[in-house]
Amino acid sequence: MSSLIQVALDTPLHRLFDYRLPDDVGAVQAGSLIEVPFGRTRQVGVALGPPADSTIQTDKLRDVIRVLDDRPALSADILRLAQFCADYYHYPLGAILLATLPPRLRNATPFVAETPWLVLTEAGRVAEPPARAKAQRALLDALRAAPQSRDTLRAQKQGRHAAALVAAGRAAWSRVPPQAAEAPPTAGSPLATSEQQAALESLMPMLGQFGVQLIHGVTGSGKTELYLRLIDAVLARGLQALVLIPEIALTPQLEQHFRRRFPGRRFATLHSGLAEKDRAENWLAAPDCDVLLGTRLSVFAPLPRLGLIVVDEEHDASFKQQDSLRYSARDVAIARGKQRGVPVVLGSATPSLESYAQALSGRYQLIELKQRAISQAQLPAIELVDLKHIPVDNGLTRPALQALTETLARGEQSLVFLNRRGYAPALYCPSCAWVSPCPRCSARLVLHRTSHRLKCHHCGFETRIPPECPNCGNPDLKALGQGTQRLEETLTALLPAARIRRIDRDTMRPRAWAELGEAVHGGEIDILVGTQMLAKGHDFPNMTLALILDTDGALYSPDFRATERLFAQLMQVAGRAGRADKPGRVLIQTAFPDHPLFRYLQRHDYAGYARELLAERRQLDLPPFTRQVLLRAEATTMDAALAFLKHAAQLAPDDANVSVFGATPAPMARVANLERAQLLIQSAQRQALQAFVRDWRPQLDTIKPRIARWSLDVDPLVF
Ligand code: ADP
Ligand code: ZN
Ligand code: ZN
Repeated sequence: MSSLIQVALDTPLHRLFDYRLPDDVGAVQAGSLIEVPFGRTRQVGVALGPPADSTIQTDKLRDVIRVLDDRPALSADILRLAQFCADYYHYPLGAILLATLPPRLRNATPFVAETPWLVLTEAGRVAEPPARAKAQRALLDALRAAPQSRDTLRAQKQGRHAAALVAAGRAAWSRVPPQAAEAPPTAGSPLATSEQQAALESLMPMLGQFGVQLIHGVTGSGKTELYLRLIDAVLARGLQALVLIPEIALTPQLEQHFRRRFPGRRFATLHSGLAEKDRAENWLAAPDCDVLLGTRLSVFAPLPRLGLIVVDEEHDASFKQQDSLRYSARDVAIARGKQRGVPVVLGSATPSLESYAQALSGRYQLIELKQRAISQAQLPAIELVDLKHIPVDNGLTRPALQALTETLARGEQSLVFLNRRGYAPALYCPSCAWVSPCPRCSARLVLHRTSHRLKCHHCGFETRIPPECPNCGNPDLKALGQGTQRLEETLTALLPAARIRRIDRDTMRPRAWAELGEAVHGGEIDILVGTQMLAKGHDFPNMTLALILDTDGALYSPDFRATERLFAQLMQVAGRAGRADKPGRVLIQTAFPDHPLFRYLQRHDYAGYARELLAERRQLDLPPFTRQVLLRAEATTMDAALAFLKHAAQLAPDDANVSVFGATPAPMARVANLERAQLLIQSAQRQALQAFVRDWRPQLDTIKPRIARWSLDVDPLVF
């Protein structure tokens, strides 16, 4: 008689599936990846354990097809973490488990990992090949000193001897070179500043147990240096460190910095920019690495010896996934740290108000670095250009242009920020007021002059630039407003001697960050023009001016997080100007110079502004003082979307601690031909809100008529 097994599959259904386990499929444990028949297809699933219900009729069940033994089983801690996510985000367990795998390992096609290293096995360490096999003995001796790469062995014509050792079990091919017996010394750590020293005295004793430490440190205060020292201490105990970072494009830069610091240690990186094969390789290598550096998805990587989790730039919005499983990698990291009994270190110059409030209340330990690590590095002066009194020409004021000219004359570099890529935000007909609508969204098509196209930045729709107004036939269409392409054109005309480079999502290719860094450091660029993505991470000593052209949209936005985000961005930009020995200058064009945000910004006073925003949030019952869940609905008509939500609201459990707000169209009401609406649920008590959604969600499945899509967004960041 065959045994039964419960299997998690990647389906939208909130349930598990039972299968029979024939004796001949091989060993299956909880977490094993297996192939099973499902409907008329086959699926890869995750074996869990024996079914909960023992009264199942075995003869109705189908057989497991095979165990995918080319990849390791998911470990118990990943199963536990996925279960946490399933409960907290109200998302199917099977879909989460499969999503923790790199895409290439989610299907049953066998995966052969590259194994470039020949390493000694335990048997090879103790047993000698026969004396006459001289070449094998020599190779074994070489392996005792260090692993040998396949390429070297091939060049030395040792392939046959290597194969013999592998066949005899004395050596094995491996993905990563094993760690040197003695960890090589850490290279070149600077003497800690007194602030760093104090921080380390608080941080070091926290290793070895769960706790959340929030490092709030101004840009350049040496947070990275603190991470490196903590990691060093963790590696010295034979444990692993997981470092989560926001921006894909920056991984190579940071990786280099880390590698230089820990020569001989094994690094792995994981991010969605990797080729599928590399991502699978790196995921398979993760259990053996010392440091895993990656973006949000790495929070689910297999790390059996996890000893520390660092979340750098913890406030960054990219830690939250905006589709399917809408998780926050920062929050999942904290959950994982708690499950594993491992400290979680969050770092930022502008922590999220969620984290900062936790630190102020004492639930997280707050560690502050108020000085820049390099003492000459001054925080820049921040000046406002009042657009109510100073005229703008093509997006630029005279003081802004003058600052650029002066910086150029000194042979220094400038950054110019404009948060709108493309040539102009829209094409406009002066005779009938047609403003290039996207046929599929409630948005304007953006004019991209270099590619001669109109593009929707929401759904990807593109079309060529019409020769005349599609509405009235007027051939004289105008570009409306400023985008980065147009700004580049304006600057080129005004400052013909300047070498200008535009950086935004349209110009970024893989490796572009590294090239850009070299070009700026090499003095090949005078002015960098770009969107806020420019503000991240780079450290350019000769960059002394930052110009910010358009921020006002965020100052009075209906999104309650808009000012928090803007402040963080502006602080980050300010951190880019004048990082070395040269004083920096930041110029902001705004029609609202009296807005309190600027007052705090000019004083570089994150804490002051955070307290003011928190007081406001408390008064308005907004997060972090309340918790929110957003039910999102998409349908072919707005009426259908709203009707679904109204029905959902009627099915809501009765709980005095939970507020259900009215169904409303989403701020972007139409995207890709679907109308979008949302319903906000809020409570001051997380437990109450969780219990509410647990009861409510199954009922949502019963609502008729069905709509195109609905989803729950727990702790939504974007509305
Ligand atoms: P953050 O991550 O807070 O922005 P970094 O760790 O990148 O800051 O440090 C900023 C700069 O200061 C870097 O060039 C770094 O090498 C340098 N630095 C950090 N700590 C020290 C120190 N203790 N002594 C000298 N230089 C330091
Ligand atoms: Zn017209
Ligand atoms: Zn569109």
